[in-house]
Amino acid sequence: MAPTESGDLELIRKTVRELARRYDLEYWREKDKKGEYPWEFVRAFADGGWLGAMIPEEYGGLGLGLTESAVMMQEIAQSGGMSGGSAIHFYVFPPAPILRYGSEAMKREFLPKLAKGEILMAFGVTEPTAGVDTSRIRTKAEKTADGWLVNGQKVWITNAQNAHKILLLARTSPRDENKPLDGMTLFFTDLDRDRITVREIEKLGRAAIDSNELFIDNLEVRDDEVVGEVGQGFRHLIDGLNPERIVVGMEGIGLGRAALDLATTYANERVVFNRPIGRNQAVAHPLADSWIRLEAAELVCMNAAALFDAERACGKEAAAAKFLGAEAGFQACDRAMQTHGGFAYAKEYHVERLWREARLLPNAPFSQEMVLNYVSTKVLGLPRAY
Ligand SMILES: Cc1cc2nc3c(=O)[nH]c(=O)nc-3n(C[C@H](O)[C@H](O)[C@H](O)COP(=O)(O)OP(=O)(O)OC[C@H]3O[C@@H](n4cnc5c(N)ncnc54)[C@H](O)[C@@H]3O)c2cc1C
Repeated sequence: MAPTESGDLELIRKTVRELARRYDLEYWREKDKKGEYPWEFVRAFADGGWLGAMIPEEYGGLGLGLTESAVMMQEIAQSGGMSGGSAIHFYVFPPAPILRYGSEAMKREFLPKLAKGEILMAFGVTEPTAGVDTSRIRTKAEKTADGWLVNGQKVWITNAQNAHKILLLARTSPRDENKPLDGMTLFFTDLDRDRITVREIEKLGRAAIDSNELFIDNLEVRDDEVVGEVGQGFRHLIDGLNPERIVVGMEGIGLGRAALDLATTYANERVVFNRPIGRNQAVAHPLADSWIRLEAAELVCMNAAALFDAERACGKEAAAAKFLGAEAGFQACDRAMQTHGGFAYAKEYHVERLWREARLLPNAPFSQEMVLNYVSTKVLGLPRAY
C-alpha cells in the first residue's frame, strides 16, 4: 500500500522498509559483483508509486513532501546501501528543475512516465575540466534555425548506459567574469546514442548503478526541450540542490545504520579471549558514538526538510545536513569495518560493500570542502578564498 497523503511518516517508513527488505544483502552483493542494474528492485518501487514520490498527483506522482521522501530514501539506503539508494534517487530528485521550470507540455508528457518508471533519465552537469566550478563547463549549445546543436563532454553521468532522456547543462553564451553562472541553459532531451558516445567508468563501489563518460557530437535539440529560461540553467538547477543535499544526508544515515547493525551483531557473536568482542569498550564505544552521531545528523536533516516543506530558506541547514549525514554515515561504515577485523575484507560479511559505497558521500554530489566553503562565506560572512 502506497500512501497518497503526506504526513504519516511512520506508515511511509514501515511500508518502504518492508518493500526494500524483500531485496536482501545477498541480492545486492550479487548485483554489485555482476555490475547489473537492479531492474526488479526499481520495478517494485515503480509499482508502489514511489518513483513519483515528489511528483504532484496531477502529473501521476504521490505528491509527497521532502520530509516523507527523505525518510523513504533513508530506509532504502539502510536496506540496500547506495546501490539501492542511487537506483531510486535518480528517479526522484533529478526531475526537480522540470517540475519547477519545465513547460506544461513537457511535464504532462514526461512526469507520469518517470513516476511509473517507464523512462529512465540521466543528469548531465559534471565535466572533466570544470570539476566543482560549474561556471567553467565547456559543453556548448549553439543556436540553429530550429533548435540547438550541442557539442562537448560530460563525466560521471549516472544511468547513461540505460537512460532514455538526459537533463543536460550547456553553455549558451560565453563565460562572463562578472556573471560566471549566467549563460548556461538546461535541456531535457533524448539521450541519442547516434550523437552521444557513452563509456562506462570502472569504479570503487556501486557497480550496479553505472557511471559514465559522455562524448557529445552534434546533438540536435529542439527549442521546446529547453527547461526554463535560456541562460538561467544553473540557477534553475540550484533550486533542486537543497532537497538533494538533505536527502543525501539521510541516505548517509541509512547506510551508517545498516553498517552499525552488522557491526553490533558481529560484536555480540564473535568470541575472542573467551568473550564477545563487544564486551571490550574499545570495540563498543566507537559504535555507541556512531549511534549518537547518526541520531544527531538525522535531527539536522529532518529540520532542514521541514524548513524546505514549509517553503522557508534552508540553504545552510541543507548544507549542514549533507555534511553531517555523509560524515556520520562514512564513519559508522569505517568503524563497522574495524569491528569485523580481518573478516571485514571478506565480501561474505557485506560490510565492505557499504564502506565502499559510503566513500562516495564526502565527495558527491556536493563535496565536504564545498559545504565548508559555503558555510564560511555565506553563513559566517568570511571572505571567499577562491
Ligand atoms: C559515483 C558518482 C556518481 C556521480 N553522478 C553524477 C551525475 O549523475 N551527474 C553529474 O553531473 N555528476 C555526477 N557526479 C559528479 C560529482 O558531482 C562530482 O564528482 C563532484 O561534484 C566533485 O567534482 P570533481 O570530481 O570534478 O572534483 P574537483 O572539482 O576536481 O575537486 C577535487 C577536490 O578538490 C576540492 N576542491 C576544489 N576546489 C576547492 C576549493 N575552492 N576549496 C576547497 N576544496 C576544493 C573538492 O572539494 C574535491 O575534494 C558523480 C560522481 C560520482 C563519483
